[in-house]
Order: sequence, then C-alpha cells, then structure tokens
Amino acid sequence: MIYLDNAATTPMDPRVEEVMAPYARDVFANPSSLHSAGRRARNSMDEARDRIADRLNVASREILFTSGATEANNLAIKGVARMLKDRGNHIITSAIEHPSVLESVRALAKEGFETTELLPDEFGRIQPEQVVEALRPDTILVSIMYANNEVGTIQPVAKIGKQCQKRGILFHTDAVQAAVELDLEVKRLHIDLMSISSHKLYGPKGVGCLYFREGLHLTPILHGGAQEAERRAGTENVAGVVGFSHALPLSDAEGIQKVRALRDRLLEGIRGIPGSKLYGDPEHRLSGHLSVGFEGVRAESLLMALDLKGIAVSTGSACSAGAIQPSHVLTAMGFSRDEAREVIRLTIGRFNTPEDIETTLEVLGELVPHLRR
Ligand code: PMP
Repeated sequence: MIYLDNAATTPMDPRVEEVMAPYARDVFANPSSLHSAGRRARNSMDEARDRIADRLNVASREILFTSGATEANNLAIKGVARMLKDRGNHIITSAIEHPSVLESVRALAKEGFETTELLPDEFGRIQPEQVVEALRPDTILVSIMYANNEVGTIQPVAKIGKQCQKRGILFHTDAVQAAVELDLEVKRLHIDLMSISSHKLYGPKGVGCLYFREGLHLTPILHGGAQEAERRAGTENVAGVVGFSHALPLSDAEGIQKVRALRDRLLEGIRGIPGSKLYGDPEHRLSGHLSVGFEGVRAESLLMALDLKGIAVSTGSACSAGAIQPSHVLTAMGFSRDEAREVIRLTIGRFNTPEDIETTLEVLGELVPHLRR
C-alpha cells in the first residue's frame, strides 16, 4: 500500500514501538499504586511529562495527559468556559475547526454561552484583525486551530495569541496537525492552552495532551479519581504516554524537508493534469499536505479507484446517515457544495518514498481522464 493519508493518522515509528514494548509486558502497574511497581510506572509518567514539557519549553506541571486531542479540545473549551462563566459568556472560534472544537463550542451554546464562528478567506486563513473585531467585553476564550487538517492552511496563531493576551482573554489552539513540524514554544506564541495528539506524530493512538498554562483553572469534564492533579480522572495510559513522549521529539528539520520535497514533486505532477486545482493557502501550508480537486471528478470515486490501485488518500467529506456531506471547511472557505465534493486530500509522511510519489502520479494520470469520461 502507498499510504498518503498521514493527516488522518501516522504509522508508529519503529523507535517508538521499541520504547513502548516493556510497558506492555513489565511496567503494567497502576501509577497510583504505592508499591514499588506502581512507583516505577509513576516515574515513567513523570519522565514522559518532562520530555513533552521540554519540547514546549514549559514546566512539567503545565502538561495534562488525555486520551487524545478530542478530549483535550473538549476539556480546554468546556473546562475553561464553565470555570469562567461568571466573568463572561462569549466564545470565539472559527468555522473550519475540527469537530471536537466546533461541537464543543456548539454544546456550550446550548448551555447558554454566546458564540462566534469566524469565516476564513478563500485560502482558509483567519486574520488576527477578524478576531480582534469579534472580541467583546464578555469574551472569555478564543479557540483557533494552528493548522487545518483538511486544507493544510497554517493560521497566524502567534499574532492572534498576542491580541488575546493584550486583553487578558484566554487563547486555545488545536495544534494536532502542526505539532509534527511547527514551533511549539507556547510562551513565545502567546498560547494559553494547546491540544496535541500522539497518533498524528508517529506515536500510539489514544493518547495526547493539553498544555495548560500555570495559574489557569478549569472545571474537569470527567469526574472520578484525583489523577492529573485532579483535572482529568482515570487510570493513566502509561505505555501510551511514554510512546507519545518519545515520538514528539523525533521530528527534525531534515525529515520535514524530505517530506516537503516529496510534496512539492507531487504537486508539480498534479499541476500537469488538466483541470486540477490546489485548495488551501499555497504559502502558509503544512509541509506534507495537498488538498486538490480534479474538475468533473467526484472525490469519492477517485478515492475508491485509487484504493483499488493500493493508494490510500482521503476526502474532506463526512458520510452521515448514508448521505455524503461536503466538507464544512471548503464550504466555509466559500466553495460550492459541488466543488467541495471534488476535493481529495493527499498527505505525505516520514515513511513515504520518491517511488510512492511517482507511482501515484502515474495512477492519477490514468484515472482522472477515465473517471471524467
Ligand atoms: N483536531 C484535529 C485538527 C485533528 O486533525 C484531529 C484528528 N483527526 C483531532 C483534533 C482529534 O484528535 P484525536 O484523534 O486524538 O482525538
């Protein structure tokens, strides 16, 4: 299989697999247990937390482990909003967020919060000025993603964060797609809360974290034991946390450059196919990310045809109740539902090769004219 769906999830890096192996076998004790086996598991968690904190240049106590970014986003948004309810009632986000952000904000709207969903420009960018214009005296939280999962556009988070910070408004960012390649120094970026997921950066699934700036308070969304400094109940996923903490520092400039070169070659080839079009920001975009449409070719048909040839890609569409819904991201960017239905996503990762790209281009060159007919 040629795997070009690295934005959906990445394969585990063998180096991560290796460090995790003993945790399945030997270090299985509950980190809350007081015996030495439990203390060993606790130490492993502490070291993992230090490793992640180092990467973000923050204190270890500012890292809160979760079951992934869906939980981290829910916790950041609902946790902060409910905690600050007495101070204000207004939350700002964008219309192109991942559902774990958008639906958290919408759930809060049902609880009585007022919400603003900012629309991006045609490249999927949210401008800091738009955020500033939407701010109100009762705004308590702004949540804008670092980079978009469907079209790959990178947002000016540092500038947005700075505007929020000046006014004492909390800024959360979903950094799931960005974490593998972009600056994560939250203090420099004026970020108060940031969600990361392990399985998008060659780590195990079912684990992630929320960076949570010291001094902030949130209302837990899970009630139970006193784990994670009483902010996230539930027995910790020790093996997962350890794998995650080793996966995060593995990405380096050289690897990112390699991915970018493959992506650029793929784009060059696709541009040679008549009727092709790139979506998202051509300049501010993730290194391995391509979102492209072929005029007159339904994305689902192309995805299926590519799959038969052993090439895995994705569409931005979601299938709900049997009907295919066009991507909420592309429609928010101003594209028609019909056009949005033609867009596929090809995302390159650390383990792709130049041969993968050449084969994909050959297959696309055959399939696109055929499907168009
Ligand atoms: N945010 C973004 C931007 C994502 O791409 C994803 C994964 N599709 C998530 C959040 C959810 O992360 P997780 O799978 O860890 O729950």
